[in-house]
Amino acid sequence: MSVTRTTCPYCGVGCGVTIDPSGQVTGDRDHPANFGRLCSKGSALGETLALPNRLLSPRLHGKAIGWDAALDEVAARFADAIAQHGPDSVAIYGSGQLLTEDYYVANKLMKGCIGTGNMDTNSRLCMASTVAGQKRAFGGDIVPGQYEDLEQADLVVLVGSNTAWCHPVLYQRLIAAKQKRGTRIVVIDPRRTATTEDATLHLAVKPGGDVALFNGLLIYLIDHLQTNHLFNSSVTGLAAAEEMARAHLRTLERDTGLSQAELYLFYDWFARTEKVVTVFSQGVNQSSAGTDKVNAIINVHLATGRIGRPGMGPLSATGQPNAMGGREVGGLANQLAAHLDIDGTADRDLLARFWKLPRVADKPGLKAVDLFTAAADGKIQALWIMATNPMVSLPDADVVRRALERCPFVIVSDIVADSDTARRAHLLLPAAGWGEKDGTVTNSERRISRQRAFRSLPDGVKPDWWAICEVGKRLGFSEQFAFQGPADIFREHAALSGFENDGRRVFDISALDGITAADYEGLKPFCWPWRKGEQPTARLFADGRFPTPDGKARIVPVAPRPPVHTPRKKRPLILNTARLRDQWHTMTRTGIVERLGQHRPVPQLHIHPDDAGDIQSGQLVEVTSDWGRALLIADITADGRAGEVAAMMHWTAATGSGAEIGPVVNPAVDPVSGQPELKHTPVSI
Ligand code: SF4
Repeated sequence: MSVTRTTCPYCGVGCGVTIDPSGQVTGDRDHPANFGRLCSKGSALGETLALPNRLLSPRLHGKAIGWDAALDEVAARFADAIAQHGPDSVAIYGSGQLLTEDYYVANKLMKGCIGTGNMDTNSRLCMASTVAGQKRAFGGDIVPGQYEDLEQADLVVLVGSNTAWCHPVLYQRLIAAKQKRGTRIVVIDPRRTATTEDATLHLAVKPGGDVALFNGLLIYLIDHLQTNHLFNSSVTGLAAAEEMARAHLRTLERDTGLSQAELYLFYDWFARTEKVVTVFSQGVNQSSAGTDKVNAIINVHLATGRIGRPGMGPLSATGQPNAMGGREVGGLANQLAAHLDIDGTADRDLLARFWKLPRVADKPGLKAVDLFTAAADGKIQALWIMATNPMVSLPDADVVRRALERCPFVIVSDIVADSDTARRAHLLLPAAGWGEKDGTVTNSERRISRQRAFRSLPDGVKPDWWAICEVGKRLGFSEQFAFQGPADIFREHAALSGFENDGRRVFDISALDGITAADYEGLKPFCWPWRKGEQPTARLFADGRFPTPDGKARIVPVAPRPPVHTPRKKRPLILNTARLRDQWHTMTRTGIVERLGQHRPVPQLHIHPDDAGDIQSGQLVEVTSDWGRALLIADITADGRAGEVAAMMHWTAATGSGAEIGPVVNPAVDPVSGQPELKHTPVSI
């Protein structure tokens, strides 16, 4: 056996990994995302291959059954529900862990064959506000730049992102560049984190203050830059955005919680530096104003033309390894495959023609929180959950629990049998895990990489794409699901991206239309778009043209808006949720590696000394919201702002700790993106 080149399954940096026959994992020196680097989690991948409690056969009501019987049951339940209650009574809830090929067939089944928009994913918790903000600004869900822009910038602004812990290899690249060229780093985060330690300036912004902060910057830029520095001919909406921003200028310091000196220092640096990259992540996205925050950030780049050129632009750092790939094939309930628009008749007709179907879903489906609320209300008859644990990750776990109890048939595809969600399923389907499955993923810089199998499938285990196709065939769509493997699916995905594409759709990988299985096997990482007859495209929008009807980008007027739930006497503190450096999701993988657990071994509640009263570090405390409670170990620290506490998201009920924070979190969502406000819940201790 030779060395296998694959991709790390943990985060949106999308590092290349090589694995030798002994299971030794190293960073892939040829992969353009990491050039050989790995973080602590990626380095430990070889130690996570033998997962305990592996699910090795389908189980119906706890009893092992064969795959044929299991798939017959899924198809029969879906068919019955559709016949009796219509297509919108069934749903799939997927994950940024799925490979693009899995996502593609899941979307084809739901939005094409069944005709419902009810295919959503846990990327709704991660990226949905960025998707909505980018679509509003650029006319498409498009990341303009590249990782190398971080190394070419003179000022890097990190907003709502503990990059040092959550995107470690990207951070290593930034710090190496800082050492070389003296890059200024501004970190905008209510908390002091590992990332703020390297910051030239840390702005401990008030939660919810980002729109005000960037609106203030927009005004400063308009007032202090010569107008010929503005990107006027390529954008529209600047006057309306300026008017909106000026209307709130009086309350800028109150809205941001920052002093005039802090604000003006940042604004001055931004105005004086041409090469600026603004990286934003969950602190921006996981908010009831997430989409507006994304647009406030993009606005300042558009207004000054700091986009599409080396060392410039807004860059969304994706949480999950394949949140972006899922979006390319319509992974969110309000999308269709190939960035086609579910609200557009012409786009729907195009997709129906390509898939040889009479029609496709003609309206958006239920977004994650709404989907589980609908299931709890008895409106979903069959729900298929893949590669995710919504009992832990969605807000308001009581609603999720009721949804799983009330829905007549819940299918869970996973690699383990004992997740909080799997324990409530009627049918469990054993899925292939990392190292066993083949396909592609897309990282935060639009780079598509292969994830390759290097181990044989355990007996009884099947990849998700196969299970979905088998259900599709059983529902009468043999022609649509006649795929022999992931290469066939990718080939169709590439063909669709170029189908009747006159250049309006930026997502285009038609250069790979007709790719052979051998070429798919050897496919090297590349950035889309990769149009037929052209080379892959690194940076977009350098020409000042955007995929909107008039070719101009939109500067979107946005007004500061407070979070939905504000603290009050009974719940005086604000709970923020965050992630650890060495753990991933609910610790199903990283939790079995002892040395990763040593970094932060217990679930803590970080409390400011001003709020601690008699509470001492190390004491057990209960944190309570209007939605639930959790038990955590107090850590008295001034890392956060007074009045704010923080907890990590990794602990689950399955560990028996009582430390799961999901039930405490409020279910408010962004009205545009549907992304939950996971970082702002009023609580008491
Ligand atoms: Fe994996 Fe992300 Fe670490 Fe890279 S930075 S090794 S993708 S977890």
